[in-house]
Amino acid sequence: MGIYKKHFPLGLGTTRLPVLGPKDIEGLEKSIDLVSQALNAGIEYVDVGFHYAAGMAPLILKEAFQQTNKTFAVTTKVMYGQDKTADDARKRVELYLKTMGLTKADYFTCWTIWDYETFERIMKKGGIYEGALRLKEEGIIDHICCSLHASPEDMIKIINSRAFEGVTVSYSLLNAPNMIPVLDAAYKQDISVAVMNPLGGGMIAQNREFFSFACGGGDNGDTVHAALRFAKAHPAVDIVLGGVGNKEELMDSVSVFSTPDPELPEKRHERVLHQVSGLSGFCTGCKYCEGCPQDIPTAAIMQARNTLLFQAIPSYNRKGPEELLYNLQLFRKLFFDNGWMPESRELPCIKCGKCERQCTQKLGITEAVADIYRRAAETFYTKEDHKKRLEALLVGKNYRKVGLYPNGGFSKLIIQLYREFFGEPEFEWLQFNSDPKTWGQMADERVVHSPAEIAELKPDLILICTYKYDQDILESLRPYEEYGVRLEKLHRPEEMPWVF
Ligand code: SF4
Ligand code: SF4
Repeated sequence: MGIYKKHFPLGLGTTRLPVLGPKDIEGLEKSIDLVSQALNAGIEYVDVGFHYAAGMAPLILKEAFQQTNKTFAVTTKVMYGQDKTADDARKRVELYLKTMGLTKADYFTCWTIWDYETFERIMKKGGIYEGALRLKEEGIIDHICCSLHASPEDMIKIINSRAFEGVTVSYSLLNAPNMIPVLDAAYKQDISVAVMNPLGGGMIAQNREFFSFACGGGDNGDTVHAALRFAKAHPAVDIVLGGVGNKEELMDSVSVFSTPDPELPEKRHERVLHQVSGLSGFCTGCKYCEGCPQDIPTAAIMQARNTLLFQAIPSYNRKGPEELLYNLQLFRKLFFDNGWMPESRELPCIKCGKCERQCTQKLGITEAVADIYRRAAETFYTKEDHKKRLEALLVGKNYRKVGLYPNGGFSKLIIQLYREFFGEPEFEWLQFNSDPKTWGQMADERVVHSPAEIAELKPDLILICTYKYDQDILESLRPYEEYGVRLEKLHRPEEMPWVF
């Protein structure tokens, strides 16, 4: 029997708890109350990561756990990269337990396995998996699980290794044709599945009309209920994770799983899958179009373009124009699903027609590929454009010191790309951050400075390299211009983020 089967089928996701940070006392109280209500309503499986809910999720859980006498089962997560060795894994689990006020946890999750290679690294002697085994022997954790973000092929290989007793995967009617073989493999191996993103990252809830085809007779026309029931309908799935932002959402999701599915799960499964295949213009992710002689990732592009069928959603602190919002959604999906960006603006498609001949949905793939390249050119989202941008900003300027603000994923990429394109710079890189916790710490082999040090260090240029709050940062740094510090934003107004 699958390890998650003993729990109430709705699991509590803690990413969207309504709190803004440690100073948001009202938000903290609301979140603790919400978790308590979830536990009292019968939810047992609680999914938590350290950065969830503005980094407050573990502390919120600690308070809520202390207030309940209900049974709960919590995850502790260890990600390869952040941690590498068995000892690192132990330290991370101990930190989780201490922060949540617990002495043991039901689940150890090897978090976010991107591909089979990462899995192999986790499994190496002295690695994270070995740490999990030791913790299990000592009774500190009960079960070793993982969350998978790999290709379906790699997921199946990892599942078939039988290293894990439970897996968490992203599954909804949006990616079902792609994911069914993965769930089938888990079912065959008697490995329990917890589903994340059952509403397609919000897309289904935001486009209820479009997805109303998912509703069967017993769903009373409620697309969200139908989508949640669909996620649970595969026999391998024992938990459906629901992120909750308020009590109404919570109770609504609880109600879905408090009574048996009004439709036979296997019938629901079959009916919805049939309808997904029949959606006009919708890419089902079946990947039959793959194998482009020019190495264009046709299936990934077509799946990302599903977003164009729906309303554009404000994101990354941008409210419009619509074209920008669509581009953000498109390239974000391609970035996360495939890590792809065009090399240059030049369209490599030779219009051989292979992809379209193989497409089960008869979609206009060549036109769609040309459109993606047009969008990439208009938003500077190519490797060639990134090179030109760095050249224009930094090469031949006789700078002695260049500040990157803030340090993080963007600054790391900039340093790496500069080296790749132009070799070692003649100037010195400086890193700044407004978060006091980072000051004086080493990041990417360089010390992180506070903004107050700008006047003393006098960089020739500060490159504001984040996307979301670049305008706010620019305004906050204006006073340093009087020290002769030049300020530049990395991203131009229509540009896509260099890191999503
Ligand atoms: S038509 Fe273009 S995208 Fe399709 S397989 Fe041929 S080269 Fe690739
Ligand atoms: S074959 Fe068609 S439906 Fe399948 S992934 Fe490719 S574009 Fe999408």
